[in-house]
Amino acid sequence: MHKPLSTGATIGILGGGQLGRMLSVAAARLGFRSHIFEPGIGCPASHVADQLTTASYTDTDALQRFAETVDVITYEFENIPTSALDVLEQVATIRPGREALRISQDRLTEKDFLNSLGLKTAPYAAIDDAPALGAALNAFGTAAILKTRRFGYDGKGQVRLQPDSDPQAAVADLAGQAALLEGFVDFSHEVSVIGARGADGAVCCFDPGENVHSNGILRTTTLPARLSAAQRMDAVLLTANILNALDYVGVMGVELFVTSEGLIVNEIAPRVHNSGHWTQNGCVVDQFEQHIRAIADWPLGDGTRHCDVVMENLIGDDMGRIGTIVKDPTSAVHLYGKAEIKPGRKMGHVNRIVPAQTRKV
Ligand code: AMP
Repeated sequence: MHKPLSTGATIGILGGGQLGRMLSVAAARLGFRSHIFEPGIGCPASHVADQLTTASYTDTDALQRFAETVDVITYEFENIPTSALDVLEQVATIRPGREALRISQDRLTEKDFLNSLGLKTAPYAAIDDAPALGAALNAFGTAAILKTRRFGYDGKGQVRLQPDSDPQAAVADLAGQAALLEGFVDFSHEVSVIGARGADGAVCCFDPGENVHSNGILRTTTLPARLSAAQRMDAVLLTANILNALDYVGVMGVELFVTSEGLIVNEIAPRVHNSGHWTQNGCVVDQFEQHIRAIADWPLGDGTRHCDVVMENLIGDDMGRIGTIVKDPTSAVHLYGKAEIKPGRKMGHVNRIVPAQTRKV
């Protein structure tokens, strides 16, 4: 694809959760249509998208028909089955490309890739069996985290171990899943960069945000993050380095640990990212529009931050506070239209802005 997509073109989106929903809205604002592919019924994106295919990722005919109706395909999650991608790419361009998916689907491949770029990660070792785990725990000699190589999100599939933990029991808990042991990083705080790369190779990064997690789930992102000028520059440059190495087109989230020895890359997500939701009210062009612009071969927009922001996820029972939140004149509320409130379920988020003129220096 070398020509910018014209308005009226259709963006295919794999996944109909809140990210697919907000991508659809951004596509509509630019005059595009969107077609969602999602196995679940009544998904958040179905309320706003132009077309919806409800089918499984193993349904080759449905995938084929979906791809024939769209001008470009993107996605809201990285764990798309390879067999589905094989079918889709015969018919339409997938952006971001498959290399970014291949790398981010497997924590071991991802760590190898990041290290090949000279970027720092936690020390790590592939774990295939209990003796390998025992040896790695010994070699690290500190607390460590055992993670499944694939399908981990929001801290799922992770267990903390000590040098004297029982490797047999930990490996048995993996139930045959391939795993990775990561040395525990002694970080002061966590930040992330939302970077974008256009089809023309232009790179634009949003200001890094500072993230607070609880029980593995993102609670808040605060802008500006506590970073020195040098750290902020480092965060942006390493993100550009990753985007360029992958010849990436679209938006990516890069999660970083801030340590006394510099920034350590935790993981990358080849998609719009929860820690980038603040851009909806902090920038002229937000991460969702930036992603749509990139995959449509449009020029990237201006992602300069124009105010301080605190993004708070509304998770489960947080929805009980919604009556108060909507009365706050500094808060922009974004709800996902999910019918049922469940513990741990992301129901929406709120961006509280601090206008520049009232900001304390
Ligand atoms: P992940 O799913 O890998 O992003 O991990 C979820 C959260 O667990 C991270 O945001 C960190 O707070 C924590 N975590 C993950 N890996 C490490 C590590 N190697 N050292 C210290 N904390 C970690």
